[in-house]
Amino acid sequence: MRMDNVPLIFEYSVPGRVAVALSDPGVPEVPLEAIVGAEHLRREPAALPEVSEPDLVRHYTRLSQRNYAVDVGFYPLGSCTMKYNPKVNEDAARLPGFARLHPNAPRELAQGALQLLWELDRMFCEISGMDRVTFQPAAGAHGELTALMMIRAYHEDRGEQRTRVIVPDSAHGTNPASAAMCGYTVVTVPSDARGNIDRAALRRAADGSVAALMLTNPNTLGLFEEHVVEVAEIIHGCGALMYLDGANFNAVLGITRPGDQGFDVMHLNVHKTFSTPHGGGGPGAGPVALKQMLEPYLPTPTVERDGDGFRLDDERPKTIGRVRAFVGNFGVLVRAYAYLRTFGPLLRQTSEAAVLNANYLLQRLRPYFDLPYDRTCMHEFVLSGRRQKTQYGVRTLDIAKRLLDYGYHAPTIYFPLIVDEAIMIEPTETESRQTLDAFADALIRIAEECETDPETVRTAPHRTVVTRLDEVAAARNPNLRWRPPTKAGVTR
Ligand SMILES: *Cc1c(COP(=O)(O)O)cnc(C)c1O
Repeated sequence: MRMDNVPLIFEYSVPGRVAVALSDPGVPEVPLEAIVGAEHLRREPAALPEVSEPDLVRHYTRLSQRNYAVDVGFYPLGSCTMKYNPKVNEDAARLPGFARLHPNAPRELAQGALQLLWELDRMFCEISGMDRVTFQPAAGAHGELTALMMIRAYHEDRGEQRTRVIVPDSAHGTNPASAAMCGYTVVTVPSDARGNIDRAALRRAADGSVAALMLTNPNTLGLFEEHVVEVAEIIHGCGALMYLDGANFNAVLGITRPGDQGFDVMHLNVHKTFSTPHGGGGPGAGPVALKQMLEPYLPTPTVERDGDGFRLDDERPKTIGRVRAFVGNFGVLVRAYAYLRTFGPLLRQTSEAAVLNANYLLQRLRPYFDLPYDRTCMHEFVLSGRRQKTQYGVRTLDIAKRLLDYGYHAPTIYFPLIVDEAIMIEPTETESRQTLDAFADALIRIAEECETDPETVRTAPHRTVVTRLDEVAAARNPNLRWRPPTKAGVTR
């Protein structure tokens, strides 16, 4: 089937054509103006498409086939951990007892769901070295905010008004954003030549006004913080807490535990590490795992063991309150639970394979690109397209666009901000050596094209449904309103 030139749904429209015929409702018809008032009614009917059911179904099915997804191809999107999600997780989440449970069901009827959350809490604690978990936050960034609110409550409870949060310059943008949203002043600390947080600068910044350090480990350069224990001593030495941005947890499962490294609280991205679907706007979940001293401030309700059963606890006087309705995005937590019940004992192999795959790709690609931090990487690595830019006038954006021509999703680019022309690649553990080789071959070919035919790379993509878009114009001057075509007769 031709995939280009799918018409707009409006272009199928034939006046009077309908997809669904509603049966007689059996109640008297009431004019709209009697309900909302004539002044609120439009004078002309909305220009909605009038189409048949097959046209409707085919239109959206065709559009869906244009999507790139992890079930369609390799997705090397660094920092996002786009691994393949076992379909058995979907079966578990769709079990009617989970999928159709009403969030207000009495606890006697929700024991299985509460038990699942309780057991997931125990599993996350075992993996992270923490003591308790809240499942309410809807994503990693929301987990950051929730944790910072608990950190603030902790300090205030001790009579301390701390005003600053330290964030390294390699951090994900959500870290300073969450700190600012929570009312803190953000202090940025640079990275050192090996990509670790600069300890001398950290010592200068760490004083009694600091509430927490937000650290990512492995950090966004894909590098393990080599002095994390010493960093924790510096931070705890001034009475502040250690927050881990756990987005890169996929690299260290079963190998090392944040709780043992000195972290007091962290978020987990179940849509990254624990294999729940990712992208397209969610839902995800960003559970927060924490040490005992933060337990009193947990969002309510918490799931508690109660004899042989389980209950929700709303009676926590020091709670920061609710951060989301009910217990959070329960469906994705069922998927995470199914994943852990399947792979729990193999988690270490998961991370080892993720790290091996990343280092394999790094070794294949390093002759062709600059590598600003030349260390053994963890689950991802950051190349620089500086050479291609200065020697051939090809930007990292162009290289990413050219990858689309070879059938791959582009890697993360221009992040982290401290790497010029950054190309951030994360293969994950679920990819085979053949897939990694094919991807490396494509990227190497593009590196060669930068020398021999830079214009083709600069103007890519050429083989996709749409070619290079004017992103600035699209953002500055969006045209979101459909207008009838000026020329009659649209081909299908
Ligand atoms: C993905 C990510 C976040 C934010 O997580 P969301 O679940 O997308 O809100 C924070 N920090 C890092 C390093 C990340 O990669």
